[in-house]
Amino acid sequence: MAGKRTFTMIKPDGVANGHIGAILEKINGAGFTIKAMKYTRLSTEDAKSFYAIHKERPFYGELVEYMTSGPIVAAILEKDNAVEDFRTLIGATNPKEAAPGTIRALYAESIAANAVHGSDSDENAAIEGAFHFSGREIF
Ligand code: UDP
Ligand code: MG
Repeated sequence: MAGKRTFTMIKPDGVANGHIGAILEKINGAGFTIKAMKYTRLSTEDAKSFYAIHKERPFYGELVEYMTSGPIVAAILEKDNAVEDFRTLIGATNPKEAAPGTIRALYAESIAANAVHGSDSDENAAIEGAFHFSGREIF
């Protein structure tokens, strides 16, 4: 059975371009509730370990540099079928391929600076949420 929680970040471009409010409105409007949230900035070590799964990929160094370039918003979201429905709401990794009306189609700058992160599985949602939040910060 699909899980009820996913993890997201509004990435540095989304924050720097003033899209926090609009993105949270899309998230709430799609039926997700916020179970934890913080405005923060990743250290290089944080970003390296969060994206360790991509460490062999050619864009890893740039991704770490980009994700540490400014503040982000990290959040745990709840909804039935959360992981899959959130991936649908954000759209494809490359905003040029993202369906019209998706968060990335509306707000992303590029394939790297693509406005938001969304977990790709229930297992990773739990790992990524625990990476950013302790038990007493999650409601
Ligand atoms: N990324 C990139 N270049 C690429 C593919 C990905 O810079 O060719 C970045 C982008 O920020 C993306 C992140 O690496 O969101 C993680 O990549 P993944 O394939 O997991 O995409 P996502 O799950 O975020 O859609
Ligand atoms: Mg991914």
